[in-house]
Amino acid sequence: PIYLDNHATTRVDPRVVEAMLPWFTEAYGNAGSVGHAYGHAAREAVEQARETIAGAIGARPGEIVFTSGATESNNLAIRGVAERPRRRGDHLVSVVTEHAAVLEPLERLARGTHRLSLLSVEPHTSSQAGVVDPQQAAETIDSDTCLVSVMLANNEIGVIQPLAPLASAAHAVGALLHTDATQAVGKLPIDVEALGVDLMSFSAHKLYGPKGVGALYVRGRDPIVRLAPLVVGGGQERGRRSGTHNVPGIVGFARAVELCTQTLEEERRHLRTLRDRLLAGLVAQIPDLRMCGPDPATTARLEGNLNVWIPQVDGETIMLAAPQVAMSSGAACSSADPEPSHVLRALGLSADEARCTLRLGVGRFNTMAQIEQAIEAIGDAVHRLRKG
Ligand code: PMP
Repeated sequence: PIYLDNHATTRVDPRVVEAMLPWFTEAYGNAGSVGHAYGHAAREAVEQARETIAGAIGARPGEIVFTSGATESNNLAIRGVAERPRRRGDHLVSVVTEHAAVLEPLERLARGTHRLSLLSVEPHTSSQAGVVDPQQAAETIDSDTCLVSVMLANNEIGVIQPLAPLASAAHAVGALLHTDATQAVGKLPIDVEALGVDLMSFSAHKLYGPKGVGALYVRGRDPIVRLAPLVVGGGQERGRRSGTHNVPGIVGFARAVELCTQTLEEERRHLRTLRDRLLAGLVAQIPDLRMCGPDPATTARLEGNLNVWIPQVDGETIMLAAPQVAMSSGAACSSADPEPSHVLRALGLSADEARCTLRLGVGRFNTMAQIEQAIEAIGDAVHRLRKG
């Protein structure tokens, strides 16, 4: 099948695999065992990777903590701030359209010691659909707020949040700003200083790297952000995340970031061309089809993202009728959860409308020929289902 589910995960770039291979079978040392050449080489590789990744996001190497992925990074950022021994304030602020890996740790805290405010977003009728209202954010953030967590790019509708006003509002009261940038790193130019963030989560498998490795950027000066660790043990990552380093994974992560950085603008143009053709082709086949999320002509949106609403036709049913295309429907990315997408619901779609959607994620390895085939396959499936 044609792979159009690049928000769920991406194919590992063969150049990444190549960079990883020696670290399994030849240079297999533990980065903590620096008393011999094996461990020393592993340590060097991890530190080199840290430098590459830090450089790509405008950070310093000491500000990068390696984790098992963005889920862990989000948990470490949120619980790490909220559960610090000498914390200020117990109010957490986030947005209704965040990923479950942000909402779940926040809601857990809110069932105990903390208070949680979730900001709403612009409705689907707006060209700014999915964008947080900075005014509402400024009114919600108060002197008791310790952390504001707002994602950079949404995994379902691709909307890119303007973080600068949120950073100002958070910093004005002494709160920290965390961003889940899992869908943005490798896809957009990122500079943590320009964004004004204190903590930023991201993951290798969304940017053509391996699964099971990610990072958390933790501001190291003005101010130094201190975190209560989630995983304790051998004290790796300066005590912020214990556990033997995933050396091949970390090496692959850095190589993947490096490749994204080298071809960023070229790739953005490629993805935009394919995405725009996909939308135009689908509209030609299905005239009542509507795009969900912000209008890319006026509002920042991930180039590779398309989310469409096809009235009266269930997304899951289209997926079954068009097995030649690997895509996802408005019933969220976790298959264990049959609920219609909370992101589309937050835009104001009814539960039934949210079920009649498809998320199409275009990626590096897609070609125009595949896009044409996908248009045919989805168009045919919808026509058959509507006739039937
Ligand atoms: N945040 C966002 C926005 C995501 O899209 C994902 C992956 N679906 C995650 C967090 C979780 O990332 P990981 O798979 O690396 O734990």
